[in-house]
Amino acid sequence: MTNFNNSKMNVDALFLGPKSENAVFFREMMEYAVTEHMHWRSGYHPEDPEYVTTVDRYAPEYRDTLYRTEGILNQLSSKLKTTSIPWFSPRYMGHMNADTLMISNLAYVMAMMYNPNNCAQESSPTTTVLELEAGLDLCAMFGYDTNQSWGHITSGGTVANYEGLWVARNIKTLPLAIAKHPQARQLLKEDSEKALLNMPTSAVLDLIDDLKKQGLFEEVRDMTCRGEGVEQGKLGKLLVPQSKHYSWMKAMDILGLGQQNIVQLPVDASYRTDTEQMRQIVFSLIEQGEPILAVVAVVGTTETGAIDNVAKLIELRRECEARFGVSFYIHIDAAYAGYACAMFRDENNQFLDYDVLIKRYHQEGIFPSDVVWPKPEVYQSFKALQEADSITVDPHKVGFIPYAAGAICMKDKRIVDLISYHAAYVFEEVAEKGRKAEKQQNVLLGSSIMEGSKAGATAAAVWAAHRLVPLNILGYGKVIAAGITTANWIIESINTCEAFEIEDRKFEIIALPSPDFHMVNFMF
Ligand SMILES: *Cc1c(COP(=O)(O)O)cnc(C)c1O
Repeated sequence: MTNFNNSKMNVDALFLGPKSENAVFFREMMEYAVTEHMHWRSGYHPEDPEYVTTVDRYAPEYRDTLYRTEGILNQLSSKLKTTSIPWFSPRYMGHMNADTLMISNLAYVMAMMYNPNNCAQESSPTTTVLELEAGLDLCAMFGYDTNQSWGHITSGGTVANYEGLWVARNIKTLPLAIAKHPQARQLLKEDSEKALLNMPTSAVLDLIDDLKKQGLFEEVRDMTCRGEGVEQGKLGKLLVPQSKHYSWMKAMDILGLGQQNIVQLPVDASYRTDTEQMRQIVFSLIEQGEPILAVVAVVGTTETGAIDNVAKLIELRRECEARFGVSFYIHIDAAYAGYACAMFRDENNQFLDYDVLIKRYHQEGIFPSDVVWPKPEVYQSFKALQEADSITVDPHKVGFIPYAAGAICMKDKRIVDLISYHAAYVFEEVAEKGRKAEKQQNVLLGSSIMEGSKAGATAAAVWAAHRLVPLNILGYGKVIAAGITTANWIIESINTCEAFEIEDRKFEIIALPSPDFHMVNFMF
């Protein structure tokens, strides 16, 4: 996989720079990206004659079309320059994202020229492979076993969250479908509705294997909610913190699960999910016999960057399984701070011990000696990510990749069979027997994810970034640490800033103290 030996990476050499300091290099590489493609075209069957001749190119309407092309680009450029957001500028901090990596912009343009469509590998022989590699890079960063897990790129965190809930929903109805099938039902040890609606994810996935062995899987899958529809209210509650992103409301609506089935978990004084109240809510739902569709923890909330206590949530699920025989799906919405998991991993992808980590940060100048990050609970949360069933992470946020690049990682790839399809117009139906071999040469991403056609260029951008900036302490770790250091400096500056007067009114500026990540909130 990735070459992680990258200790000499310089953060300032990764970006174009607020004053375009790397303009010469960037222009040269941009030209390279485009020229390479033009060579590819002209070298493709060189025996073919030129289609457009010199005479054609001097025709008046031909010249006119080119002039108009240029004119429209002039217009677009002036619109962009007058009304765009200066993400690159240290003066601008109004949003949660920053500049994008040069490598990802270059890789995007380079791949875009070939216009690969990652819906199916036959229309993206190169970039589908890159997407799967980039997905596994993220799985490895979260501590998933790369032989068991899978990840792919989405248009953003919103769609990744939809997909997480889609999987959780379909998993929930598989045991119910099995119980309805005359032959398959013999696979169940217990078939009370309560038992069926509270099974651990891994137990349901094992049932998929059993069903496949008996040749019953597809028949039973058609009897899950994806075939028969969602029975109102039956699948239980989705527990998400109050601090959730609104994509969860949309997800419940779109997937037919109903927003009324969201239970909002209160947050504590640090804007994290209040774990004691979460425990009480879960226990009382169990007592009422109400199934839990899934519990979501947020790693990096959209407003304050709070990191929910993932370790406590994992512990709670274990407790529920042991005490009540009740389990639930766990999804982590790490759209925002997911990439920070790189900060804990060494060059061999090992999750570092806390003391070793802090020592390396200071010895290797990743953090200045007066910055101690993370808080122990935050450390434990990132360490526990590997126990979650699925994780949303946005390369276009703290991955510094251009839009639109989100991603979802799933701990156990068997889960994909619950949502997988073959769209007849894109793919030929392959007999079940030949499918395994087929899958390896022709990955049909579009049949196993929420989206259809999608830019292979995005996959190239994410893949290339992960190669230059490894997902460890010396790669993304260094880049993200620079942001946390800056955030601490801003808080420090705000806190020591004297009150000031504007037109006889006195203003004080107050920062929200001690954030978990690099988001700074303040008020006047
Ligand atoms: C940004 C964000 C999302 C949505 O992601 P998009 O990429 O905007 O679709 C979801 N959850 C959290 C926590 C986020 O920060």
